[in-house]
Amino acid sequence: MFKCNFHAHSRFDDGTEELESYIQSALTNGFRVFGFSGHAPVNFDSNWNIRSEDLEEYTNTAKALKDKYKDSIEIYVGLETDFYPGCTDWRKKRGIDYTIGAVHFLKNEETGQYMPVDGNRQEFEETLRYGFGGDMESFISAYYGKLREMLLTMPPNIVAHLDVIKKNNENQAYFSEDDEVYRDEVIKTLEVVSLTHTIVEVNTGGISRGYVKEPYPSRWILESCFDMDIPVILSSDCHHPDNIDYYFDEACDLLKSIGFKSQRVLYGDEWRDVAL
Ligand SMILES: [Zn+2]
Ligand SMILES: [Zn+2]
Repeated sequence: MFKCNFHAHSRFDDGTEELESYIQSALTNGFRVFGFSGHAPVNFDSNWNIRSEDLEEYTNTAKALKDKYKDSIEIYVGLETDFYPGCTDWRKKRGIDYTIGAVHFLKNEETGQYMPVDGNRQEFEETLRYGFGGDMESFISAYYGKLREMLLTMPPNIVAHLDVIKKNNENQAYFSEDDEVYRDEVIKTLEVVSLTHTIVEVNTGGISRGYVKEPYPSRWILESCFDMDIPVILSSDCHHPDNIDYYFDEACDLLKSIGFKSQRVLYGDEWRDVAL
């Protein structure tokens, strides 16, 4: 497998350890390429994003590592960006090589509150109850609708954890993925992914942190990606250097069993397909 990872958090946002620790772990694990994707600053209170005043230090530190290790590993500087009303477009910012676009929050237009999609169980319940009057279908439609809006207005290079709304749905506690409404929302979203030439990530971060037992997105969604010729990329979404390739072998086997032969990665300053 061509070893690489483009989804990583550090002490600059809600991860741990210095950026350089991730590079040392990447080298130990035989990585060819590594990308940092700190949570981009947001214009509301948050304790998991890079603070605006720290952004320059983040990009400068990553850039210095890029130079320091240029003979042993390619390093890219990215951001995991949030899409919400009035969000910043980070795609063309100086020093940013790529973006991973996510919808972690839905704004409640009545209260102005940002309601988490992938919070803990209690936060999820609150979003469902206070944001959608307990109507899971409305929650699902709002989430996937917002993802499509992001793709159509500010398409990132990579779509983050596409079905992260399933994070608290163990044993189908809130909805069934076989439900027609759910499947329609996902398929409509994949059609926009295809149209906008974005990459779907196969994110193992939820497994390493004990939230889910399989990667985002679910196998049937990856099968649809394969049928629609949508490129994928393996991501560990690591918050600690020890997890930079967590569950990669299993996820690689899963992709191969579906029929995928390659993943699309940034390598030699170009997005290209490399063998799994
Ligand atoms: Zn995320
Ligand atoms: Zn992340």
